[in-house]
Amino acid sequence: MNIVVCVKQIPDPATPGVLDEDNTLQRQGKLILDESDSYGVEMALQLVEAAGGGEVTLVSMAPDEETSGLRTALAMGAAKAILVSDPALAGSDALATARVIAAAVERAGAVDLVMTATESTDGYTGTVPAQVAEFLGWPALTFARHIETGDGTVTVHRQTEAGFDVVAGTLPAVVSVTAGVVEPRYPSFKGIMAAKSKPVDTVTVADLGLSADQVGWVGARQDIVSVDPAPEREAGEKIEDEGDAHERIVEFLEGLKVL
Ligand SMILES: Cc1cc2nc3c(=O)[nH]c(=O)nc-3n(C[C@H](O)[C@H](O)[C@H](O)COP(=O)(O)OP(=O)(O)OC[C@H]3O[C@@H](n4cnc5c(N)ncnc54)[C@H](O)[C@@H]3O)c2cc1C
Repeated sequence: MNIVVCVKQIPDPATPGVLDEDNTLQRQGKLILDESDSYGVEMALQLVEAAGGGEVTLVSMAPDEETSGLRTALAMGAAKAILVSDPALAGSDALATARVIAAAVERAGAVDLVMTATESTDGYTGTVPAQVAEFLGWPALTFARHIETGDGTVTVHRQTEAGFDVVAGTLPAVVSVTAGVVEPRYPSFKGIMAAKSKPVDTVTVADLGLSADQVGWVGARQDIVSVDPAPEREAGEKIEDEGDAHERIVEFLEGLKVL
């Protein structure tokens, strides 16, 4: 079972994000593994272990040949990585990102399954997984909280508001994984040391057979028209209990249509 896990390397969410003049997030300096993707890495490692063979390959698109986040996932147990890094990628929208990721998956050779998170922590359009599947011409199974493979098929428990649906498709396929469904393993010291020498195939847009006008600002189909600060949080309503507080709370919740 050969699995590609798409891992986004993002600025540390613990520090406030800074926008560039073109309204995109500044991504200079160290980038970390998006926590959302650590669940996919863990699930992929478990699937490969259960299959008794194969390996996990990481695919990431990031500026400045950044590998910090990739090394974390390699330390967890992934075998190798493909990193797409090219100045031509600046300004790439989600569709261009998916085009690049799909081309990198094709470079990875024989792949049974591609795994992603349902949405990234910094961009969170939640559109890349289905777009990658479309570029590859593979089925997309989304919001998976449990995955089983066998006999050329993949079956997932697809998270719903009420519980889950059981959805099956043929392999190869793209599966997006919901956050928090497994406990991602901590890299061991041995894993961290081993990750330093695991192969990272760093490629450009041209290496993937794509042209510069399919990506970056030139290829973007989306435009950032304006960016506004989030509105300040308003003070909440205080209810003094004069014996009717429970009714006021019910009234309030009914107003929000949650009751
Ligand atoms: C006009 C425009 C210009 C932009 N310019 C830039 C820019 O210059 N630089 C920049 O960094 N961003 C830029 N962005 C943001 C960028 O498009 C998105 O961050 C990126 O395309 C992925 O979208 P997302 O994070 O919303 O993906 P989602 O669909 O929320 O991601 C779902 C999952 O797909 C996978 N995935 C997504 N992105 C990657 C990735 N890069 N590598 C590996 N796996 C991935 C991960 O598993 C992720 O959890 C721009 C956006 C727009 C609209």
